[in-house]
Amino acid sequence: MHQMDRVTILKLGGSAITDKARECTPDIPAIQHMADQLSDYDRPLVLIHGGGSYAHPFVTRSGIGGGLRDRSQLSSISETEFYLGQLTRIICASLLWRNKLPVPLHPMSFATLDKGRVKKIMLDPIRKSLGAGLIPLLHGDLVFDESRGIGVLSGDRIASLIGSRLGASRVLFGCDVDGVYSANPKGFLNATLIPEVTSENFRVALHASRSPSGDATGGMGEKVRQALRLAKNGCECYVFNLRGKNSLRKILDGDGVVGTRFVAWKRARTSLRQSLQKA
Ligand code: ATP
Repeated sequence: MHQMDRVTILKLGGSAITDKARECTPDIPAIQHMADQLSDYDRPLVLIHGGGSYAHPFVTRSGIGGGLRDRSQLSSISETEFYLGQLTRIICASLLWRNKLPVPLHPMSFATLDKGRVKKIMLDPIRKSLGAGLIPLLHGDLVFDESRGIGVLSGDRIASLIGSRLGASRVLFGCDVDGVYSANPKGFLNATLIPEVTSENFRVALHASRSPSGDATGGMGEKVRQALRLAKNGCECYVFNLRGKNSLRKILDGDGVVGTRFVAWKRARTSLRQSLQKA
């Protein structure tokens, strides 16, 4: 099976495609630049967008990330779904405008949790869309939890889950910083970029990103954990700056060094065609 046939998973980080300081505010130039760079990309692709300022404020304020405790939280579930749908539509529009064909798939409709862990997930719609030549567009979402009522399934977790199940060739985590640094680059000006994470130095990346995050989904620490999970299973990952000029194109084309590369620990064997055959 040729490498070309295997799917690429691209997480569009909420930190890059929204203004995290202002509720429900898209970063239109960042979204347009992302769509421009995808306009001539013709290989199998799954897109997953983060919630950014369209989800984190509502989830954090209502506490629904920790489960459903009383009826007053219900309106936050409806609101979060409504706003996430708005962001999905903006991304869809930017892609359709460039003749790319996304299909929005909402994890709340095809996955469930139990005690915060994925209990069930139906991948057929993703496989079928890929098989038809469409671009499945998923997002970090609120998902029903059998024990807690509701929970958060982060875009980073979805990326690693789908990446493993579909036998992705690579998973790309785009965000608003150039990669994983020795400390949060927004607070520590002396922080240095970690260019490569391997089975030898992975503890450094884990340690560097473990600072607490105000987010509903665990910030850089969660991204590093999910990237490591994938790398251990043989899937190469990148954490990179989606706002950087042409950085997405460079990674897609394998052209130059961009961001932090998580080197695969062993080779993956599942091809997209094999995954599609299971559908
Ligand atoms: P979303 O969950 O909305 O999709 P995202 O995945 O794009 O968001 P965040 O979860 O906000 O992004 O994580 C990126 C942020 O992590 C950066 O803006 C940066 O400030 C912070 N961060 C913390 N520690 C580090 C580190 N060691 N290296 C790089 N960034 C770090």
